[in-house]
Amino acid sequence: MEPVGRITLAPAMTSSAANAVIAALTAEGSEVRFVGGCVRDCLLGRPISDMDIATPDPPETVMALLKAAKLKAVPTGLKHGTVTAVAKGQPFEVTTLREDVETDGRHAEVAFTDDWLADASRRDFTFNAMSARPDGTLFDAFGGREDLDAGHVRFVGEPAERIAEDYLRILRFFRFLAHFGEAVPDGDAMRACADARDELPRLSAERVRTELLKLLSAANPVPALTAMHETGVLAVVLPEADDFGRLLALTGIDDRDPVRRLASLIERDGEDVADRLRMSNVEKARLGALVPPTVSLDPAMDEKAQRQVLYDGGADLYRDLVLLAWADDGERRAGAWRAMLETANRWDDPKLPIRGQDVVELGVPKGPEVGRVVDAVEAWWRAEDFQPDRDACLAKAKQLLTS
Ligand code: ATP
Ligand code: MG
Repeated sequence: MEPVGRITLAPAMTSSAANAVIAALTAEGSEVRFVGGCVRDCLLGRPISDMDIATPDPPETVMALLKAAKLKAVPTGLKHGTVTAVAKGQPFEVTTLREDVETDGRHAEVAFTDDWLADASRRDFTFNAMSARPDGTLFDAFGGREDLDAGHVRFVGEPAERIAEDYLRILRFFRFLAHFGEAVPDGDAMRACADARDELPRLSAERVRTELLKLLSAANPVPALTAMHETGVLAVVLPEADDFGRLLALTGIDDRDPVRRLASLIERDGEDVADRLRMSNVEKARLGALVPPTVSLDPAMDEKAQRQVLYDGGADLYRDLVLLAWADDGERRAGAWRAMLETANRWDDPKLPIRGQDVVELGVPKGPEVGRVVDAVEAWWRAEDFQPDRDACLAKAKQLLTS
């Protein structure tokens, strides 16, 4: 494979940790290259999420080379040729060059090779098939750089064939469309995705969730979701979503949080969707509280009422609820909605200044009565906008006991 030029590598690729891993892997003379997402993101000047390094050496040799350099080596997936090298606490995925021997739409049987072109050919999209030597020499067998500049998400080879090898590529297509697509989506790829959509239920819920959430964290995920909808793919993985108006409104006022964006796409049964996508318990509770919303917010609400919502659900849930309600409401009252977010920024989560022990010291025997008095004082303190101090709360407790 001939190089196509030379690029300046991102700082993450030339850090002392990266250099230590590269020095270890090349100690016996092997050629290694950065591959996949890090080369793509480097070309775009985007932050690099994880670093993949490819080598012609088999995984056992990779393990030995890393150990000889006193670097931590984790045998993440020896059968698939993946070793995780750790330098200065930072992980690097080191993968042996591979080619597919057999595929069944979900799993691939791979063979190790020393052929860089064969390894590039099994990758999904042209801009994910580039590689770069540690000196910046760039290899780009399928015109990935040009496609990246033009915002073309293009399969390496025939879309239908590549999808039949691995149906996850359908979802990866829309994910990369969301992050890098600028042009009209490739017609052949769209048709191939539409034709294969019935195979999607074979994918694990975890993989669907991961792709969906990655797609939703793009700057503007709506065009890719629209394409996904047109192919009928969205109806298979997220049938609840058929109106993107609220997501579009949320995009631009939010911080790209994918779970909140998912909430903006569905109108009911947030917990069921979370279950189906095998989301974590924390994410499930969040989606459950947002769809349908536990509290309906309005910018006409006074600050005291806002603080009560903050107290009851916490600042994160409050921000979610404000942003979703704002997206529903449109831009008309943007200033008032922004002021509601400000209330959260000023919120310092007050703590009730008395505890059960204080009530015991007022003469209440240990037991359920203590909790009832504390709860009653808390309800009063909350209604008084969290202003009463410890003395006032003790006085209130005494008053409750004598009345
Ligand atoms: P990011 O890490 O930013 O999510 P990425 O492109 O690095 O994106 P990974 O899932 O980390 O994606 O995969 C690394 C590389 O491995 C990809 O760039 C691509 O070359 C290849 N790859 C990953 N998954 C597939 C797949 N299902 N089919 C073909 N190639 C794949
Ligand atoms: Mg990656």
